[in-house]
Amino acid sequence: MAIPGDIDPADWSDWSWQMRHRVRDAETLARYIDPSPDEIDAIAKLAERFRFVITPYYASLMDRNDPECPIRRQVVPRSVELDDTAGLADPLDEVAHSPVKNVIRVYPDRIAFCVNNECALYCRFCLRKRMVGDDEWVMKKRELQTALDWIAATPEIRDVLLTGGDPLVYSDERLEWILAGLRRIPHVEIIRLGTRLPVTLPFRVTEDLCRMLERHHPIWVNTHFNHPRELTPEAALACDRLTRAGIPVGNQSVLLRGINDDLETMKTLCESLVRLRVRPYYCYQAQLLEGTEHFRVPIEKGLAIFRAMRGRTSGFAIPSFVLDTPYGKVPLAHPYVRGREGDCVVVETFDGRLWREPNPR
Ligand SMILES: *Cc1c(COP(=O)(O)O)cnc(C)c1O
Ligand code: SF4
Repeated sequence: MAIPGDIDPADWSDWSWQMRHRVRDAETLARYIDPSPDEIDAIAKLAERFRFVITPYYASLMDRNDPECPIRRQVVPRSVELDDTAGLADPLDEVAHSPVKNVIRVYPDRIAFCVNNECALYCRFCLRKRMVGDDEWVMKKRELQTALDWIAATPEIRDVLLTGGDPLVYSDERLEWILAGLRRIPHVEIIRLGTRLPVTLPFRVTEDLCRMLERHHPIWVNTHFNHPRELTPEAALACDRLTRAGIPVGNQSVLLRGINDDLETMKTLCESLVRLRVRPYYCYQAQLLEGTEHFRVPIEKGLAIFRAMRGRTSGFAIPSFVLDTPYGKVPLAHPYVRGREGDCVVVETFDGRLWREPNPR
């Protein structure tokens, strides 16, 4: 990792300094990498379609010379994004599933509540491209209150997932205002935060933040590591602080072509996560989303990767491979249950043997 020499290390590890000094153009990017002509061209052409912003910290993880670097490909635009004609702006039809602004309800008992449309950086494959960084989706305090009122008036909701954008881009005060509002609602049992900041801006996970979150337990966090190179000492410290605050931390990755779509990379990622006490929870099949065709991997390849992990690593290092649809998430799993034969059910073991298990009618 290369912190540019003129930056004070105390500034570097200050999350608000990182937010104020984000990379937003090809010239600043050139402090960290030598952008290829295609990247420079894509930054100019795509700036209006989907924001290009990278934290200095995440930029420092990029390989200076290799445009195929798995960190670089997640955040630096490429002109292939313009070639995708099939992708949709809102493939999960989330807008149609919103009873009030930025509340997405697909399941009876739980919601995704997009409290913030800002992120520390913008991932090229982001499912919420349509909203992140776009003023139309900013949540004013009054709109947040409207959403809290809707939750309070909807007693089936027992699980609230705060997402975005990224809820941790908010100040501790604003986030606590939302958490306290939720905790006043008796039927809200658990609160989850979906945040990529442990990966993209780990300095955000301060001791103060963790002490604040602890006051509102049970809180669960899901973060979003996609590649082992993201597991830096800084990211490890952020995860350790969260888990020491009693917060179970999970990981949701996206299966991305050329980034993590091979057994070795996925297994290393998942095993490294569990060493940090972070549980691989979901790995998403990439959606049919505008500008992301070059990232999509055939579902069969994903099935083969997770099938190959079964039996060859700790069970809790294996996430569920899922496809999200407008009607909810669908587990994509190798068919280990082959079906009934007489009084038995035939199952396939991890190494391909068949087992006949006597099975009642
Ligand atoms: C993923 C998701 C949830 C949470 O689903 P779990 O399977 O419980 O993690 C809730 N609401 C929406 C809209 C989601 O997309
Ligand atoms: S951090 Fe998450 S919400 Fe933000 S741009 Fe990346 S994928 Fe999208």
